[in-house]
Amino acid sequence: MEDLFAHSYPGTSAKTLFADVILPVPIPKWFTYKVEREFQDRIGIGYRVMVRFGNTKILTGIVARVHQKAPEAYLAKPLLDVLDDFPVVNALQIKFWNWMASYYCCHIGEVMHAALPSGLKLSTESRVQVHPDFDPEAPGFPMDERELLVLETLAKHDEMKVEQFEQLLPGKISHKIIKSLLTKGAVLLYESVREKYSPKTEQRIRLAQQYLAEKGLLQELFAQLKGKQKQEEVLLKYLQVLPVFQKPEQNTGGIVKSVLIDHGCSPSSIDTLVKKGILEAFKVTISRFDELETGQDQVELSPLQQQTLEEIQRQFQEKQTLLLQGITGSGKTEIYIQLIKEVLESGSQVLLLLPEIALTTHLVFRLKKVFGSKMGVFHSKYSDNERVEVWQGVLSGRFNFIIGVRSSLFLPFDSLGLVIVDEEHEPSYKQFDPAPRFQARDAAIMLAWMHQAKTLLGSATPAFESFYNAQTGKYGYVSLEKRYGNAELPYFHLADILADKKKNLLKLDFTRILREKIQEALNKQEQVLIFQNRRGYAPYLSCEECGWIPECEHCDVSLTYHQYQEELRCHYCGFKEKLPKACPACGSHKITTVGVGTERIEENLSLLFPEARIARMDLDTTRSKYGYQRILEDFGAGNVDILVGTQMITKGLDFDKVSLVGVVDADRILYFPDFRSGERAFQQITQVAGRAGRREKTGDVVIQTRRPDQLIFRQIMSGDYRGFYQQELRERKQFFYPPFVKNIKITTKHKDFKTAEQAALHLKNLLASIEAKKILLGPEKSLIGKIKNLYLFELWIKLEKSVSVQEQFKVQLMEAIRTLQGDKKFRPVRFLVDVDPF
Ligand SMILES: [Zn+2]
Ligand SMILES: [Zn+2]
Repeated sequence: MEDLFAHSYPGTSAKTLFADVILPVPIPKWFTYKVEREFQDRIGIGYRVMVRFGNTKILTGIVARVHQKAPEAYLAKPLLDVLDDFPVVNALQIKFWNWMASYYCCHIGEVMHAALPSGLKLSTESRVQVHPDFDPEAPGFPMDERELLVLETLAKHDEMKVEQFEQLLPGKISHKIIKSLLTKGAVLLYESVREKYSPKTEQRIRLAQQYLAEKGLLQELFAQLKGKQKQEEVLLKYLQVLPVFQKPEQNTGGIVKSVLIDHGCSPSSIDTLVKKGILEAFKVTISRFDELETGQDQVELSPLQQQTLEEIQRQFQEKQTLLLQGITGSGKTEIYIQLIKEVLESGSQVLLLLPEIALTTHLVFRLKKVFGSKMGVFHSKYSDNERVEVWQGVLSGRFNFIIGVRSSLFLPFDSLGLVIVDEEHEPSYKQFDPAPRFQARDAAIMLAWMHQAKTLLGSATPAFESFYNAQTGKYGYVSLEKRYGNAELPYFHLADILADKKKNLLKLDFTRILREKIQEALNKQEQVLIFQNRRGYAPYLSCEECGWIPECEHCDVSLTYHQYQEELRCHYCGFKEKLPKACPACGSHKITTVGVGTERIEENLSLLFPEARIARMDLDTTRSKYGYQRILEDFGAGNVDILVGTQMITKGLDFDKVSLVGVVDADRILYFPDFRSGERAFQQITQVAGRAGRREKTGDVVIQTRRPDQLIFRQIMSGDYRGFYQQELRERKQFFYPPFVKNIKITTKHKDFKTAEQAALHLKNLLASIEAKKILLGPEKSLIGKIKNLYLFELWIKLEKSVSVQEQFKVQLMEAIRTLQGDKKFRPVRFLVDVDPF
């Protein structure tokens, strides 16, 4: 189809412009296109354009750069069209995408794909129709069978997409046939670009203008309508709701059609008046978000908070990034509010990142009361239209303060003054799949730097790396030690699971002390949180006779038993099967559950405390958009005595009546095979413990473990973050872990075990020759060796800390992968690169 799109080049133009275009395809760089004269005045960075890619594809991309240098390696094709009157992306964003692509070893097209809400991505579809001048009877070119088939099919439709022909005829042949039909003048081909975003509109009604100009006309009109009571009523109601003769300017905006209907007017009579030209119907675009007045809530700082605020401001004069360590309930929110206010008053924008908005509705509500309609919320469960509206709200200046999840980093900010990352230690800031596999906290610091803005990291239990950076002086550091009000830290109790088991005191996975504490709380009508980081009923089933364990057919994992649906589920691929009646290996009926999930704990609690009202919060109970909110509201209203949950309950819950927190199995967190497991255990247990006892009350925390002698428990119980940090620091240094080295993990994926392994091995050999101080580990089968029928091998790289070495290494790493993918054997292997993996 080459010739179809051929444009004539203007022979001797004074200046020839070229545009570098980012395309949504996994290619390492951007492509350069020639800008035709007609587009030269209306193109620039951030405009969406349509281009031809390869011979058959039409893609929409974004202009990253406009310049006068022709590409050396190929002849630049002309741009087909410029789609916007204004840029949708600014130069800073493109700079940020570029950084992300090179730091996280992915393609800029992949970053663009993640950055743009899909409502802003145009889809292009080539369409074909029969040429209006084509005469099938006329003698001329002979048509072959397949061409006739295409024409016949086309004649039955107005138009067809090129891909529909691909279903009609095998693969590439359809393109050939269409091309041949085009040369014969039998069909037309054109592109239709579809805008995906649709604004929300409202149907409005107003009086036709001529009746306003002359009062006499209106009297005539009423005379005409005599006897048509319903139509007369509509007109009267309209004039009653909107006194347009006193205030004629109000007629322009009219009123919402449904208001008239609510006033008892008949919809068909309204339509009749519109048909007669007496009323006019029109549509207006409205916002999807409620407007709220600002300044409904004033914030008073305590002397300690005031002092902390001043310290933050002082350190911000020297440092770009600052860590605020404030224990749960210390009143960080009030300090955030003051800082945000000041930055907004100076005319800059503010971004507040949260790990998960749904879990922090009370914080969002609180901030909404202070900042009103200036604040936009970017929710992970928002619809695409809602996302586009937040995007455009930032672009138009309607929102200068955004509170959002990690993807809000990609919004079109042009003058950020402050970025706050709350709960900065949270693992959910890391994007695992697909690329870009970025860590939003780290990316936020880079984004702020590009805007010459400040970053504030907030946490009670900082990420190890953040605290390290604060200790070494790279970041500023401020701590806020006291709880707001006079509430004390909770009382901790270590419950020895094995000791209780020996004495026969362990009942349904609950130790004596935890049972007693729950009973005490229930007696006092206080609330209880029970934490277990495993959903489902039981992690797995096992045959008591032969030890058989049901496993997923597609992955290397045991299936989790979900009792409620009586089925076994794979948490990695979603595979489900019914519970077997007997062991398929030996036929025995003695199949028992092993381990404890949230579902089983919920059941056990209802057996131990039949009078208690129990609820559960985990991925299975919160799938719907308002799933979290319903459970939290129920709990907040006091309709639940005991809430069982996964790490979801460690976040954001802030209820005065919680007096007891129980950790069912602390060992499960502590003995996870990962160098961060100690850090995770410290963070998770401290966070969940912080939910016990607020305001004037002191709460209780019971931690169940088989190893009560572990040092980390003493550190958690005394709130000794520094002690924990010092010990962990020594270990990480000794065994070469971050922050002393840079980690890069590469996973190879293939349906054949050997090929996946060999690809990783070959890559290792290529990497070994790169000059850099490094340790290469693996390849080894992944912890879960097979997912969705693909085998996984891992290669770990521990790289020296120098920034320039890392940059060089990453470039060569990507080259090595490209080399391997050029090898026929490894072409179908997927290489996933994860920089700073978790
Ligand atoms: Zn068996
Ligand atoms: Zn599976």
